[in-house]
Amino acid sequence: AKRNGGNQYRLYTDDMIALVQRDVRLEKHLRRSLEKNEWVLHYQPQFDIQSGRLIGAEALIRWNSEELGMVFPGDFITLSEQLGLINEIGRWVINEACVQGKRWEDLGWTDFVLSVNVSSRQLDEPYFVKNVQSILQSSGLEPSHLCLEITESMVVDKLHAARYMLDELVALGIHIALDDFGTGYSSLSVLRQLPISVIKIDRSFITDMENDHEGLSIVKTIVSMGHDLNKQIVAEGVETKAQLDLLLDIGCDKAQGYYYSKPLPLESMNELLERSGEL
Ligand code: C2E
Ligand code: CA
Ligand code: CA
Ligand code: CA
Repeated sequence: AKRNGGNQYRLYTDDMIALVQRDVRLEKHLRRSLEKNEWVLHYQPQFDIQSGRLIGAEALIRWNSEELGMVFPGDFITLSEQLGLINEIGRWVINEACVQGKRWEDLGWTDFVLSVNVSSRQLDEPYFVKNVQSILQSSGLEPSHLCLEITESMVVDKLHAARYMLDELVALGIHIALDDFGTGYSSLSVLRQLPISVIKIDRSFITDMENDHEGLSIVKTIVSMGHDLNKQIVAEGVETKAQLDLLLDIGCDKAQGYYYSKPLPLESMNELLERSGEL
């Protein structure tokens, strides 16, 4: 047991050293990733549950690092925030999404909404609204084709300021979605006080839906409350036909998840749009 303990201890510290070294390497390469043009957007298609139509996509960043390979946002967004790089990354993401959205408009995809994740640091930027406005102008994207996704934790301790800013964004004609809905402590007051038009039910609730009566009941309640409040409801992380059937029954509006498709590189997204008759 002692020897095991010793081995485990050594393994553990090796892991920690590897982690720290990785962080240092990450940081070094991350700082250069912008000039090296290593960021790409993947697009996870979203569907209208009732009609089955392809009605939009969520843009998700990947960092295609020369040295590290494909890095997922879970491994660099927090570090980017700490390094003060997130505002630049965030601006790049919004611009890239709007430019691509405009191409899709021109190619004939109508009635779609392209969603973009925003970090709390971006909401703190004094010129955030102006930046979004100027990106909309330079790209030429119809504002109603853009949705910004925020989470309650980003706004809960500054509802007043957030409301002011989000009102300005809504006045530009774009939509605001509340991401990961239900995972925090104050989803309801955030929903009530901010100009949110889309609720994204967190994947954990969609997973639970099949397990027991309570899980299903929670999703039902979110959908019916959301509809009473005139919100669109999107189910995240739909992985099975059974989940989709339940959502269809409940009257949920839209869904995304591995059941339909993983996030796709642009070429695959375009192929899907062609197959679906949208382009
Ligand atoms: P999120 O906004 O909640 O995005 C959903 C995440 O769930 C994505 O992971 C997506 O690939 C994954 N996913 C989608 N469908 C399924 C499914 O059916 N099952 C499972 N297990 N997972 C599914 P991803 O792309 O790794 O992104 C992780 C998080 O990183 C995002 O969570 C978002 O918070 C953040 N993120 C991604 N792109 C950006 C960005 O451009 N800017 C900022 N600030 N954050 C981003
Ligand atoms: Ca999201
Ligand atoms: Ca989410
Ligand atoms: Ca999330």
